[in-house]
Amino acid sequence: MSANFQLEPGLSETEVAIVETAHRYARDVARPAGIVMDRSEPDAILSKDSPYWGAFAKFKELGLNLREASEGLSIKDAVRLKFLVHEELGWGDLGLGWSFYAATFPAALAEGFGRADLMEIFTYDQVGCWGITEPNHGSDMLDFTHSLSSPELGGVKSNCVVVKRGAKLFINGQKSAWVSNGSVATTMSLFCRYDDGSGRPNRGAFLVPLDLPGVKKSEPMRKLGVRSLTDSEIYFDNVELPLSHLVCEGEVYTQTLAGVLINANPGMAVFIVGLARHAFELALQYAKERVQGGRPIFEYQAVKLKLFEMYRKISAARALARHVMMVHADNPAPRFELAATAKVTGTQMALEVTNAAFEIFGGNAQTTEYPIEKLLRDARLGTIADGTNDVLSLMAASRL
Ligand SMILES: Cc1cc2nc3c(=O)[nH]c(=O)nc-3n(C[C@H](O)[C@H](O)[C@H](O)COP(=O)(O)OP(=O)(O)OC[C@H]3O[C@@H](n4cnc5c(N)ncnc54)[C@H](O)[C@@H]3O)c2cc1C
Repeated sequence: MSANFQLEPGLSETEVAIVETAHRYARDVARPAGIVMDRSEPDAILSKDSPYWGAFAKFKELGLNLREASEGLSIKDAVRLKFLVHEELGWGDLGLGWSFYAATFPAALAEGFGRADLMEIFTYDQVGCWGITEPNHGSDMLDFTHSLSSPELGGVKSNCVVVKRGAKLFINGQKSAWVSNGSVATTMSLFCRYDDGSGRPNRGAFLVPLDLPGVKKSEPMRKLGVRSLTDSEIYFDNVELPLSHLVCEGEVYTQTLAGVLINANPGMAVFIVGLARHAFELALQYAKERVQGGRPIFEYQAVKLKLFEMYRKISAARALARHVMMVHADNPAPRFELAATAKVTGTQMALEVTNAAFEIFGGNAQTTEYPIEKLLRDARLGTIADGTNDVLSLMAASRL
């Protein structure tokens, strides 16, 4: 299987050129940077010499956030370009693709609400992050359906609260250790409990510059996989914000959270399809080169069958993720239950495909001389991030 754009008919010359650029960037910049970061101490990203910054600068220089490239395209064509480019980024390095995607969250939130004042402060060239989960609240913070947990979070105290006093907001507490980009982000979309003085249980989404007095970040966490995506805790000690940084609350907050998951779920599926494609390509090549019993192992039916299963699963997960994104492209009523099918299918598929690739590499799979062990570790986290597959499935089931 070669670069995925060849599987998508009807692309313009410009679109092909953009996807080819993304492919080269993924191969020549993101992948080597991801490997270095995978093998470095997590806090190495804090140094200006970290390959993260070079990869991010090149990503911006090539316009791979697709802001300009999407201008003038129909919504469906812009979505198609996005899934083609994001698959390439996931094929290069899942962690970096994910990091650069998460980085745009604060700017996208400001733009989504048409908040010109906030769009001046929260821009697409910054590294942003999303803080929603907390030490005491992981799955239940994401459950906008309230089918698994009550809006009061089962009576367990929130770790992070924003209190309104007059025309000011004060943030106190912390977010979980899993704020992606946390240690390097300069801005945050903060989703948390909101005490507006009315006494009712409420939550709100806020845009927070992370250079304000009272903000502290933990060291980046030492993780199993996607180590080029750093995760950190963020602490708030009476951090003061103008009221204008409240983006939404109440029912609009709930709809916004649903919208975030509806976008993020197939988004994650597309990135991880790229990762699985990489594992498949490596396994196919290895199977044709590795000789056992006098023949390349590809000639053994058990190995061939494994490879076809991998190819089938990748193709199916890709088709589903793209279908969901297209159905939702200009749809005023996107459906979370449909979005969840893409994330659950894609991340489960990536786990199975990287595991099968690991098997095909035999003993070599476990060494860092081959990329397979990294791909398996990276794929492992997909079923947990942005909601565990079980929790997303249960939330989705409540809406059937
Ligand atoms: C790589 C990565 C990146 C992440 N990035 C971010 C980020 O940028 N920002 C952020 O805020 N968070 C982020 N997270 C956190 C992520 O959203 C949570 O880890 C996830 O939602 C699960 O929450 P938890 O870890 O607290 O697990 P828990 O909620 O404690 O769940 C533990 C187990 O219990 C199960 N479980 C929990 N509740 C139920 C239920 N009601 N029914 C059935 N089973 C249940 C879960 O499926 C899971 O198996 C990230 C996580 C990872 C791994």
